[in-house]
Amino acid sequence: ATPTSIMVGSGRGAEQGILFKGGEYLEGTQAIEAVLLDKTGTITEGKPRVTNVVTISGDQSDFNLVAGAEKRSEHPLAQAVMAYATEHDFDVKDPESFEAVSGHGIEAKVNEKQVLVGTRKLMNEKGINIESAEEKLQEFELEGKTAVLAAINGELRFAIGIADTVKPTSKEAIKELQDMDIEVYMMTGDNTRTATAVAKEVGIPESNVFAEVLPEHKADQVLKLQEQGKKVAMVGDGINDAPALATADIGMAIGTGTDVAIEAADVTLVGGDLTNISHAIKLSKKTMRNIR
Ligand code: ADP
Ligand code: MG
Repeated sequence: ATPTSIMVGSGRGAEQGILFKGGEYLEGTQAIEAVLLDKTGTITEGKPRVTNVVTISGDQSDFNLVAGAEKRSEHPLAQAVMAYATEHDFDVKDPESFEAVSGHGIEAKVNEKQVLVGTRKLMNEKGINIESAEEKLQEFELEGKTAVLAAINGELRFAIGIADTVKPTSKEAIKELQDMDIEVYMMTGDNTRTATAVAKEVGIPESNVFAEVLPEHKADQVLKLQEQGKKVAMVGDGINDAPALATADIGMAIGTGTDVAIEAADVTLVGGDLTNISHAIKLSKKTMRNIR
C-alpha cells in the first residue's frame, strides 16, 4: 500500500478504536483466515463473581481460610473469592505461606492449616477425594461457570461457582467473522464443560474449542492452526496470552487488558469490543484495494 493509504487507513482505525502498531500490520490483517479468541476477559467481561458457595463438609465459617489463601494470588478468580468474603463479612486472615500452581490453583498455609483452592486436577494430585462435589461442579460448568474446589488439611470442604458475563457484542462479533468465512476458535485454561457452554452461547462450534490449555501451551495452539496453513489472528488480554499473541500472524490485544498483552500484540482493540476484529479486517482489505 502507498504511505498515503496506510496513513488514511490507520487514522480510520484509530477513530474506531483499532490501533495498528505499524503499517505492516494494517496490511497483514486482510489475510486472516482464522481467529483464536481467549475466553476470559476477551469473549467475557473478565470480571468474575462468586455466585455459589456450597459447603461439602465441615463448618461454613472456615470459608475465611479459603479467602485468606487467595489473598496473595493475582488471579481474577482470587479477587472474586476475596470480594465475596468481604461482602459476607468473613474475617479474612493473611496467609503464612502461599504458592501458585500454574494453571491449576493455589496452595497456602492460613492459621496453621493447609489450604488448597483450584481445579479437580489440583485436588487429585494432592490425593483429595472429590467425588462428593462432582455433581455440583458439573451443574456449575453446564451454566458456563468456573467451578473451583477448596480443601482444608486434606479434606474437601467447598465447591465454588464463579460466573463471568459474556460481553454484549461477542456473539454478534463472532457471527460477523463467520459470515466472512473466517474460522473462529476459543482457547482457555478453564474446564472443557465450562468452555463448551460459553462457546455455545456465542456461536463457536464445539470442535473449535481448546480448553484446559496450560499457560505455557497457549502459543502451541496458534502454531497448530498455522501448521494447517492458516493465517491466524490471536485475540487476548492476559499475561498468559502474550506468547500466543506474539506467535500469531496478527496479535490483537484487548485495550482494557494487561500491559504485557498490549506490548506483545500488533493491534490494540481499545474498548475490547470484538466487533472491531471484523472491522479491522475490512479496513485492511479496503486499504489494500486502494493501492491497486
Ligand atoms: P484462565 O486464565 O483461562 O482462567 P488459568 O491457567 O489461569 O486459566 O487457570 C486455569 C484454572 O485453574 C482456572 O479455571 C481455575 O479453575 C484454576 N485456578 C487458577 N488460579 C486459581 C486461583 N487463584 N484460585 C482458584 N482457582 C484457580
Ligand atoms: Mg483472558
